[in-house]
Amino acid sequence: MAAMNKSALRSAQEVSDVGLEMHRLMAELYPICRSITGNGVRETLRIISQHIPMEIRDVPTGTQVFDWTVPKEWNIKDAYVKNSSGERIIDFRRSNLHVVNYSVPVNKRIALTELKAHLHTLPNHPDWIPYRTSYYNENWGFCVAHNQLAKLNDEEYEVCIDSSLEPGFLTYGEYFLPGESSDEVLISCHVCHPSLANDNLSGIALSTFIAKHLSSTRNRYSYRFLFIPGTIGSITWLSYHEADIERIKHGLVLASVGAGDKFTYKKSRRGDAEIDRVICNVLRHSGVPYEVQDFSPYGYDERQFCSPGFNLPVGCLMRTPNAQFPEYHTSADNMKFVQPSILAESFDVVLGILGVIEGNGVYVNQNPKCEPQLGKRGLYRAIGGVESRVDELALLWVLNLSDGTHSLLDIAARSECKFDAIKRAADLLLSHKLLKQASD
Ligand code: ZN
Repeated sequence: MAAMNKSALRSAQEVSDVGLEMHRLMAELYPICRSITGNGVRETLRIISQHIPMEIRDVPTGTQVFDWTVPKEWNIKDAYVKNSSGERIIDFRRSNLHVVNYSVPVNKRIALTELKAHLHTLPNHPDWIPYRTSYYNENWGFCVAHNQLAKLNDEEYEVCIDSSLEPGFLTYGEYFLPGESSDEVLISCHVCHPSLANDNLSGIALSTFIAKHLSSTRNRYSYRFLFIPGTIGSITWLSYHEADIERIKHGLVLASVGAGDKFTYKKSRRGDAEIDRVICNVLRHSGVPYEVQDFSPYGYDERQFCSPGFNLPVGCLMRTPNAQFPEYHTSADNMKFVQPSILAESFDVVLGILGVIEGNGVYVNQNPKCEPQLGKRGLYRAIGGVESRVDELALLWVLNLSDGTHSLLDIAARSECKFDAIKRAADLLLSHKLLKQASD
């Protein structure tokens, strides 16, 4: 488990219980056929709303959002391919991945050659069903295990996709949690994938339980959680909130956080935003393997938040990055692939990150000419236990660098101390009036 759980107001048992609850929420959401629009997203948001009272918003088809247009709404009731004996050899009811997401309705009899032109498989993983979409190009298709393709006889097939693609709405969820300041932390996850667990029911579950946790604590920042369809959702949200985005001081896209040993943090486009430095610091002291990547315009909704016209301080936290685990976008990214203990660790690390954001600040030493005499104030050896030496060092670092220009995060980075130790030292010095908050 990540090392920062010691300092926070949560026990290892509580964190482990949250991992199980997240896993349970994912299992409840897993069977739903989601897409970038439609009833699957609505049902998903309704279930999340049982945990956090979020607002559900509908944006009509045809709405212009920057260079894009909100698409028609897609819904599906059933889909199958029947062989000449009338058996459902491909059945949407067994896995919603069997249908290319956003397939237009079809109901006809076709020969094997025509059927094959509409089938998608993964020859390298012949037992897995691929996940395919056709959002912006009206088409239809089925996805099957490659092994099944080889077994298809040369006969006539009945294909049926009972779907609708009609004017409707793009639906997303937004949960705003006001804090002491109107400055905001944005947390975003995508809700458009059907039965796929790590990408991205894990991000949905993590966002939900982080929101739930923060709703019970006093927060300096306001928090805005977005549950949006990938790409078109963030573009839509940004187009409606252009005037508000200057309040976003830090942001995080959460995806694929339920499987994989290490963490991967992809920095914001700025590369040196506070969120980037906070996460580097937290991961360095977490005791968990991690990798930090520079920004690239490939991935999740950070692509939109970090487009040059916004350039928001938004990074992306993952375990193994998208497209780099073999199960990615296949039926093998299922509930067996994700683990409660990994989810719990992701929860703990994200709370650690938010703890640093909440606790960071700039202070001024009130006794800057030579060191103050800590012993007479009871500050030397004031903190018992094995960490006392570290904390004394932290006191000296905070006193030395608190000249109104270095934040506590800067001091933690330069001293290579954990942020929590630096923060504790600053609080102690504040209570002894040796430190004062710098006026902004
Ligand atoms: Zn994906």
